Amino acid sequence: MVRGSCLCKAVSFEIDGKTTDIGMCHCSKCRKVSGVASNANLIAARDRLRWLSGEDQITKFELPGGWGPWRCSVCGSPVPKLRPDGGAYWVPVGLLDSDPGVRIAGHIFVGSKAPWDEIAGQAPQLRDGFGSERLN
Ligand SMILES: [Zn+2]
Ligand SMILES: [Zn+2]
Repeated sequence: MVRGSCLCKAVSFEIDGKTTDIGMCHCSKCRKVSGVASNANLIAARDRLRWLSGEDQITKFELPGGWGPWRCSVCGSPVPKLRPDGGAYWVPVGLLDSDPGVRIAGHIFVGSKAPWDEIAGQAPQLRDGFGSERLN
């Protein structure tokens, strides 16, 4: 069991059971959404994530094409977002308040990372998505 919350604690949730490892996405869209070099997310099945508070405080930003973050409408933190297929959530791992017990599975879209981005560690660095060419 791991719990997570936004900066102001209005939105909180818990995940019961197994999640994926962490994906670090360095693509240009994730840079815009996060404001930093890469987005760190894991995936949790929909029925494994339970909102503890603030589900009604979530603002669902959506650009044409469906891409966009869900955020706490009080503090602006990103919050878990339901995937388009509805079966699972993307969970920004920075929200987690304890160790989820999983580690970085890989860095994706490294082929289009920012020129100033330095990637540390031994995790695979992949040109595009998972399954694409490994660069390290
Ligand atoms: Zn908040
Ligand atoms: Zn991305």
